Amino acid sequence: MANTLINVSNRLPVAIQNGELIKSSGGLVAALEGLPKGDYEQKWIGWPGAEITDQKEQKQIGRKLANEHGCIPVFLGKEEAAGFYEGFSNSSVWPLLHYLPNYLRYEPEWWEDYQKVNQTFADKVLEVAKDGDLVWVHDYQLMLLPALLRAEAPHLRIGFFLHTPFPAPQVFRFHPRCRELVAGMLGANRIGFHAFNYLRHFSGAARRLLRIETELTQVSRDGHTTALGVYPIGINASKFEQTMDSKEFRERRDEFRQAHEGKRLVISVERMDYTKGILHRLEAIDDFLAKWKQIDNIRFIFVSVPSREGIEEYQHLLEEVESRIGQLNGKYATLLNSPIHFIHGSIPFVDLCALYALADVALVTPLIDGMNLVAKEFIACQRENAGLLILSEFAGAAEELFNALFVNPYDSDGVAATLADALGTPIEQRRRGIQAMRERVIRYDAQHWARSFIEDLASDSADFAAEKSNIKEAKNQIKRAIESEEKIALFLDYDGTLREIEVEPSAATPNLAIETLLRQLEQRPNLDITILSGRSESDLAAFFGSFSFRLIAEHGASWRQPGKKSWERPHSNLKYTWKDKLLPILRVYEQTTPGSMVEEKPSAIVWHYRKADEEFGEWKANRLTQELSALAANQPIKVRPGKKMVEVNAAEINKGAAVARVLEKLPDYGIAICAGDDLTDEGMFELTLPRLLTIKVGPGATQARFRIADPAAFRQFLGDLFK
Ligand code: UDP
Repeated sequence: MANTLINVSNRLPVAIQNGELIKSSGGLVAALEGLPKGDYEQKWIGWPGAEITDQKEQKQIGRKLANEHGCIPVFLGKEEAAGFYEGFSNSSVWPLLHYLPNYLRYEPEWWEDYQKVNQTFADKVLEVAKDGDLVWVHDYQLMLLPALLRAEAPHLRIGFFLHTPFPAPQVFRFHPRCRELVAGMLGANRIGFHAFNYLRHFSGAARRLLRIETELTQVSRDGHTTALGVYPIGINASKFEQTMDSKEFRERRDEFRQAHEGKRLVISVERMDYTKGILHRLEAIDDFLAKWKQIDNIRFIFVSVPSREGIEEYQHLLEEVESRIGQLNGKYATLLNSPIHFIHGSIPFVDLCALYALADVALVTPLIDGMNLVAKEFIACQRENAGLLILSEFAGAAEELFNALFVNPYDSDGVAATLADALGTPIEQRRRGIQAMRERVIRYDAQHWARSFIEDLASDSADFAAEKSNIKEAKNQIKRAIESEEKIALFLDYDGTLREIEVEPSAATPNLAIETLLRQLEQRPNLDITILSGRSESDLAAFFGSFSFRLIAEHGASWRQPGKKSWERPHSNLKYTWKDKLLPILRVYEQTTPGSMVEEKPSAIVWHYRKADEEFGEWKANRLTQELSALAANQPIKVRPGKKMVEVNAAEINKGAAVARVLEKLPDYGIAICAGDDLTDEGMFELTLPRLLTIKVGPGATQARFRIADPAAFRQFLGDLFK
């Protein structure tokens, strides 16, 4: 039987209007309708757009939506819908996603509503979803939903798509709930973006705001990994092609041609939204008309679809646009022509196609836009004509529409000049770049977009299983050793392995989960446990003093044998004169890198940069490593870049040597498990001793044989094995 794909979006593709069910024809609907039949049965969960309080009526509408449209409604109260949608989603998240903090408004009650509504959506999804189903959550109104679902149904495969840009982390940080929003999205197995830039910013936000280790396209947290990918959405190409084949289209086009006879047509189509750059464009049009000598032969058509009219900023925008257009028409109209033709409303699809097909120029100049489908739709309609596309370089579509005329929407002079050039370009020259773009737009359409995301999401589950089976192998080996009652040596790093990294190392004390696990391990017979860490004796004694484990501090410099209270230094003959020489270098880095600090240990010196700017810190760490490594060449020392630190210590002292030394005294061990998370642990992973089972916790290159996503998953792994 086919699995089910459950789409979840704020609005259903069917809306209740005056008691009637009206089907919407948005790009998302078209994309999902185009998925190969038979692969997935589809269901859609969302808000039907009207408040319905009567339970009987809710049931009735629910049945009708389910039977006729495969839709499952989430009913929201008027107040909570306003706080959730117009408030939190559109007045706080939307402006920041579009780099417009001046529009940011925030009310704490909206956050309550946003959480409540996301939870209501989660409850509905959990009611409907079965094992093996794919859940695809759409857009910024539902950023918390993936994590809410994961918490309740950890094995559900969850995709999330962000249909807007994701801004630089410094901008997203302005949002008072930025951390919760990023963490919410990370509940997904896969997150899709329209452009690589958005992905890169999101990955950076996860790293900076949540302080977790990320790889560019992969983020691991709480025992689960989220893959990030780029999927530029396309248009409903077949619908455009079919419409352009129709008689009705030809008739409308010819009618429009007659109506605008003798005029050059410049069109702009968009929702009435401040991100679309309408006022900036009117400035450019003013500049343009001031120089254009033939006012009678030019006509600008603005189709502005009403949008978010309940929000004050949108009402102001409409007023300003209307007033500016009135002013410009007053300034430039002749007895024969009023240059700007403004429609505040939606137009029928066939009219839209006719308009696209007829226009000389499309002026698409958003200040920023996740994708901008209008630009792609306009190109798709250049089947016979060769209209030119003037496109904002800040629209996601700019990455694909390579032959457009790019402009900076803030540069009104530049936009005006580009428009004059475009109108002066001979038709033959115009034709040239358009066809290549048109082919691309038709080929990579909305269906292609949906298919590629769904295929990747479905195969993520296979990867997930593969990762699990790899760990399964480790589990089986250890299980066999337990069953045959062999002696097991267990070497555990602490920070980043047993315990999540904290910004402040002193805050990373063992929590209840770790205490419980270690008590459990302590009870097991045949288990020889060593905790080995870069931390000091005093830290390890404070954390694990009450356990009967072997403790190895400072990467192997200081040892406390099981059952003993005193520490010994097996390398006490080593000289540390190199410290005096290298310390001043580390001090320079401390001074020039805000948020970094130097730590002096008896056997090592360390430069920490956990609190420094992520990228600056990493860059400095690389430089310091290079500088120290050059000096280390003729010294008995080793430079070890670790997690958010660079450590210099005696070459003879390292975790690998410590493990080898312990195992020398345990010749009868059946299996030795070494687990760690950073470069200082690679010394253990590189050992060539027999019966070694090495586990890397977290992402990044490693010599370890097995990998586990993060400390939470590793604790679970040990807990399951040594019950
Ligand atoms: N559109 C519409 N009615 C109209 C004019 C345009 O439905 O009268 C459609 C247009 O065809 C396009 C969508 O609105 O598919 C706008 O999508 P876009 O990505 O350009 O911007 P968004 O509104 O998503 O910010």
